[in-house]
Amino acid sequence: MKIVRIHNELLGTYGDRGNGDVLAYRASLAGINASVIDITYRDAIPHDGDIYLLGGAEDAAQILSCNALSGGALHGAVEKGAVVLAICAGFQILGKSYFAHGQEQRGLGLLNMVTVPGPDRYVGDIKIHSELLGIDLTGFENHGGKTILGAGTESFGRVKVGSGNGDGGVDGAISGNIFGTYLHGPILARNPEFADLLLSRAHGAPVKVSDPLADRYAALRREVVK
Ligand code: GLN
Repeated sequence: MKIVRIHNELLGTYGDRGNGDVLAYRASLAGINASVIDITYRDAIPHDGDIYLLGGAEDAAQILSCNALSGGALHGAVEKGAVVLAICAGFQILGKSYFAHGQEQRGLGLLNMVTVPGPDRYVGDIKIHSELLGIDLTGFENHGGKTILGAGTESFGRVKVGSGNGDGGVDGAISGNIFGTYLHGPILARNPEFADLLLSRAHGAPVKVSDPLADRYAALRREVVK
């Protein structure tokens, strides 16, 4: 299984690189041969990845990363059914447009949504309920953008604590195998069930890893974020 970590030198501000490490570790526990490939913004994005990861970033890095992706490589992978996990800035650039440095920027258009400046910066712990997983997920958020989902775009979860897409109503977006969310943490370290869902989608068969330590950590975070 090929896990492609996109532009960690730009999209690495919030430690989301850990999502790749969690996926590779859990894949190995499940007996799946997986490797993480780091792609810098000077490199071409491979078309044959199984999972693509984008993390959070400050505005300047977010623009650089989005521009480097505008050639359409990610579109090709998505058309082939690849799994995409995009966090915060990475999530915003998948939409039709986003704001950075006070200016509207053109996004990649992979998700029908726009991101506009919010009234304040959204910073703090966040807990959402995922219908897809049937559980609560926790993380932390730190963003100025407020995301408005377009018609037909499903949210990733319902916000129980925090702001999510901006109004405290819903967080993130799902479209096919694309998952976008505001949860840092890294989200897959704090919510191992979600890692297994992504691995299952990429593997084409259910993956359920036993890692009691990760489960205990996830349970602890779900208890304290309220
Ligand atoms: N620069 C974006 C914002 O502030 C994303 C921040 C992030 O990725 N944490 O909205």
